[in-house]
Amino acid sequence: MTKRSAVAVYARISQDRSGEELGVRRQLEDCRAEAVRRGWVVAEEYVDDDVSAYSGKKRPAYERMLTDLAEGRRDGVIVWHMDRLHRRPAELERFVDTCTAAGVRDVVTLSGDIDLAKGDGLLMARLLAAVAANESDSKRRRGARKALEIAQTGRPLMGGPRPFGFQEDRVSHHPAEAQVIRELAARALAGETLTSMATWLQATGVKTVGGKEWRTQTLRQVLTNPRMWGMRVHQGTVIGPATWEPIITPELGERLRRLLLDPSRRTNRSARRYLLTGLLRCGKCGNRLNSAPKNGVRRYGCVMGPDAHGCGGIFIYAELLEAFITQAVLYRLDSPDMHQALTGTGPDEEATRELADLMQQDTNRLDDLAETWADGDISKAEWIKARDRIQSRLEGNRRTFARLTQRDAVAEYIGHGDELRESWESLTLSRQVAIVKAVVDHATILPAAVPGRKGLDPERVRPEWRV
Ligand SMILES: [Zn+2]
Repeated sequence: MTKRSAVAVYARISQDRSGEELGVRRQLEDCRAEAVRRGWVVAEEYVDDDVSAYSGKKRPAYERMLTDLAEGRRDGVIVWHMDRLHRRPAELERFVDTCTAAGVRDVVTLSGDIDLAKGDGLLMARLLAAVAANESDSKRRRGARKALEIAQTGRPLMGGPRPFGFQEDRVSHHPAEAQVIRELAARALAGETLTSMATWLQATGVKTVGGKEWRTQTLRQVLTNPRMWGMRVHQGTVIGPATWEPIITPELGERLRRLLLDPSRRTNRSARRYLLTGLLRCGKCGNRLNSAPKNGVRRYGCVMGPDAHGCGGIFIYAELLEAFITQAVLYRLDSPDMHQALTGTGPDEEATRELADLMQQDTNRLDDLAETWADGDISKAEWIKARDRIQSRLEGNRRTFARLTQRDAVAEYIGHGDELRESWESLTLSRQVAIVKAVVDHATILPAAVPGRKGLDPERVRPEWRV
């Protein structure tokens, strides 16, 4: 084993999503022992505290270590586990590049050596980083498997508030509430509206399990929940009979579902906001499309009016278009191109910092230039010429900057489009917007082949990918 005389030891405490943490002191002790065992001399210990590599926050000690590595002051790295160093594949790439450039080959983790000079060493490092990135996901998956096993036995899921109609054990009926459910089922099947039933519940003083007044949404959830007719539901799907007695018959239950989940009954649709605002362009005039609802149905359109200067020639229904673009984005996240574009070069912090500096300098230049002209030192023509040059450079840098920083919005989902697909509906609108914007620069909407048709013709949609 090669002797090393200026090794870096890196430790980081992190409270990751599983709530586990490993003390910095323990990490440092293990790393020091490893150095002694190898006869290596530790030059410096770099410690970042309470900063998760996931959060994207700066890790000052880590940055310092990279600088020291880059400038040849360190000849090896000892770290407790690769997940202390990086959580994102792109970070690893940057680290590997720095080490390779500086000729540092020895990166030691207590779970095994990684020789960056060897092809498979780098592969190992990449795999370990990928494993670290997946670690909390796999913990979640283990939890999910357990939940599925329980579901398959028909036993209830514990935790959280009890379901309406049942006692705390989630199996015994709550007699009064069970009676309310039977009454509600009968009323609904007799044609009473959810609003009227919610009003009735409020008038009779029946509250939800959380002690709140009933809303139509909550009421619909309760009355369409297969748990009420003795079915065990797991992740939205009935997977078999439950261990408890039904409150209403399965036949009634199915009729309730058909009745209450009928999409045409939904009234709160127009309350949804617009996912693609600012991202759509008119295929006729190039203007941005605005939200343009008609008869309560969400649409995007090239609007003519006092504060919109469109041509009025393009309209498209929002619902299907949004679903289509979302699917395209999720698919794109899984594509090798995207993977390459986002991880190959890496959204590196250095580049964004440099760009930010350049943009600041150009902004200062513009100010100086205006002053110089005001002082009469240059002509107006000279001013405009210089200004245009600076401005076009500034614009270019702004676009690059936006692209680099927006990558962060999706970095954690690259290659995990499926996971994102599952959780998509539960994300906030602003999170969804951030993800769509990171992948799509804009989409042009072409005129409809058959005007007024309600379905979505994908041929009308021309997305321009960011990467
Ligand atoms: Zn237009």
